[in-house]
Amino acid sequence: MNADPQLFALEPTATPLPASERQARLVDPGFGRVFTDHMAVARWSDERGWHDARITARTTLTVDPASSVLHYAQEIFEGLKAYRQPDGSAALFRAEQNARRFNRSAQRLAMPELPEELFVESCRALVRADRDWIPESEGGALYLRPFMFASEVFLGVKPSSEYLYMVIASSVGNYFKGGAPAVSLWVSQEYTRAAPGGTGAAKCGGNYAASLLAQSEAIRHGCDQVVFLDAVERRWIEELGGMNVFFVFADGSVSTPPTSGTILAGITRDSILRLLRDEGVAVREEPYAFDQWRDDAQSGRLAESFACGTAAVVTPIGTVNSPEGSFTIGSGGAGPLTGRIKQRLTDIQFGRAPDPHGWRQPLD
Ligand SMILES: *Cc1c(COP(=O)(O)O)cnc(C)c1O
Repeated sequence: MNADPQLFALEPTATPLPASERQARLVDPGFGRVFTDHMAVARWSDERGWHDARITARTTLTVDPASSVLHYAQEIFEGLKAYRQPDGSAALFRAEQNARRFNRSAQRLAMPELPEELFVESCRALVRADRDWIPESEGGALYLRPFMFASEVFLGVKPSSEYLYMVIASSVGNYFKGGAPAVSLWVSQEYTRAAPGGTGAAKCGGNYAASLLAQSEAIRHGCDQVVFLDAVERRWIEELGGMNVFFVFADGSVSTPPTSGTILAGITRDSILRLLRDEGVAVREEPYAFDQWRDDAQSGRLAESFACGTAAVVTPIGTVNSPEGSFTIGSGGAGPLTGRIKQRLTDIQFGRAPDPHGWRQPLD
């Protein structure tokens, strides 16, 4: 759908960062530390619905201490990127999928839905305003963070009658220069991320808050990331704190846990499933038990494992550690299918390869 570009009124900043200063920040931006000149804002209230949509100077917020988000965490978010194309332009990737997921999250958190065209246009308009902030370097992108939170000033426990929707943008470099190193995982025994009937399938800040202690435990055990098991049987592999997982078998087939209920339905996950099916790879969405993972890694039936998400794209899993011991996957480094699927996906995102599914959305 072609949204009216005036959906978000442009109020350009009077004080953009000088170009030389911007260039300096883009040399090695890392992830989530360098922010652009503008932000998108829209408000919702019971009486007026969505209103006051603007692209405006990025600035701090004034938040009343009784804003309900600060107490009851009614907040959801998204994450997507604008990718620099070979001709210097920028393109989004499957942004309408983020819009749909945002609304599924909104429903689960009892928040108002945002019309899909408003979501997509907020991203497009912000990238247009801040396109000079996309790093020129290989793998450089603008990470967009749409989010919405309860802004009513009230301590009662109920869905807020007012919300603020915003998009901020962060210049990001190649997450891992020179290819992703394999990560080590810690299997959380004590903590779970999501239970049936809970909010695991919604992209809400609360899920992340609940995962931090388990992640700290992983770091304490010398691991990079935590991997969660299901909350009922403590047997089935679900996902990492913020990435989905894939398993690659020696017979060439691939599996990933099904997303029903407790697992976040990643758009990277969905895209990889599609690309693998295009290649004729046998792909299964089925539960996979932790014990099976260990046995298969040790017997050689399992060849590779990787995690995936928008931020780090595809990350090989090298070792898996738990109180009962550790096991290594394949050679402990990036396997061939992992490397190939990452290349295929990023080639489409960065405009280096044809886009058979129409995922790339050029910005005019
Ligand atoms: C965002 C997220 C993912 C990855 O989703 P993408 O759409 O691929 O970026 C996976 N798991 C969790 C818990 C997430 O929040």
